Amino acid sequence: MTMPAGLASFTYTGHPARVVFGTGTLAGVRAEVERLGITRALVLTTPAQAAHGRAVLDRLGERAAGWFDGAVMHTPVEVTRAALAVAGERGADGLVAIGGGSTTGLGKAIAVRTGLPQVVIPTTYAGSEMTPILGETDGGQKVTRSSPEILPETVIYDVELTLGLPAALSGVSGINAIAHAVEALYARDTNPITQLMAEQAIAALARALPAIAAGPGDRAARTDALYGAWLSGVCLGAVGMALHHKLCHVLGGAFGLPHAETHTAVLPYAVAYNAAAAPEAMARVAAALGRPGGDAAAGLYDLAGAVGAARSLAAIGMPADGLDRAADLAVASPYWNPRPLDRAAIRDLLQRAFTGTPPA
Ligand code: NAD
Repeated sequence: MTMPAGLASFTYTGHPARVVFGTGTLAGVRAEVERLGITRALVLTTPAQAAHGRAVLDRLGERAAGWFDGAVMHTPVEVTRAALAVAGERGADGLVAIGGGSTTGLGKAIAVRTGLPQVVIPTTYAGSEMTPILGETDGGQKVTRSSPEILPETVIYDVELTLGLPAALSGVSGINAIAHAVEALYARDTNPITQLMAEQAIAALARALPAIAAGPGDRAARTDALYGAWLSGVCLGAVGMALHHKLCHVLGGAFGLPHAETHTAVLPYAVAYNAAAAPEAMARVAAALGRPGGDAAAGLYDLAGAVGAARSLAAIGMPADGLDRAADLAVASPYWNPRPLDRAAIRDLLQRAFTGTPPA
């Protein structure tokens, strides 16, 4: 393997985190909590994952301070305040978050306000556990910030916990992860290390997701998918994202569209928009999708079809009369993208994504 063209000089910042990866690794949660010096851990989860929360409590024994199961999408500050109150009442000196990006977000929101150490046990492929980034909503406004306090100290990936992630959610969550890796390949601050991880991530997830759709209990595929999700999360935390993530942020924030489903519906079109401006990245995406020399956008569109995901914004609740506003919001503040932001072309991209027409 040779150094990617144009990347002979670069900067790479690695974020320090301890990662425990495998099947049955939840068994080590108490040891990991002790390793961080936590004596009373507050367990965070959602009502839907009460069983996962209980499994953590059981393993922590007297190292558990109790639990808070109110994590919800978009990390509203009211929920964070309620969880902070419980942490205070119980004298918690650390956090164990078990769940998807919403639960991880709650742990990060508490950590940034208290400095408490975090053990995160991800059960989706969102990748938040690998980033020092927190997005919160306050009065309907989503605010994003980054700080070293936000980055979890320890992450336990347990393939076992992902076996119950419903097939439909697995597919879109996995493509959400692929989106981080794709944008990392053409990021302004991309580098050879991040690109290695991005290519491995896309290849592992593209191999695994159709197999999971066919058999959600396929352990080998689940292992590949979780490994790919970890690498994608590292990519997301390491370099800046571009148009695709901006569009999903706008569609989620202004129109309440579901996170992973939105990433899945938009990705082929954002990639088609950027294709001519980032040919080398596109070649890497296509090769990682198992289509060397092929078209990256078409490959991603086909992958979404292979996992049975909705491929149009219309199907996931986007109102047709919101497309103009979405285009306005997407170009309202400047940000870097390999192809310059062109409002008319972005409106066209959104139209195609709305109907789910194959990407041009
Ligand atoms: P989620 O955390 O909202 O989970 C969706 C639902 O699935 C929840 O009800 C959850 O309890 C359930 N669930 C999760 N894992 C399960 C499992 N294994 N079995 C059964 N049910 C399970 O969804 P998500 O897509 O993981 O996360 C989305 C959120 O994460 C968004 O708010 C997004 O902004 C945020 N996020 C942040 C970052 C970051 O770096 N800050 C990165 C990615 C995502």
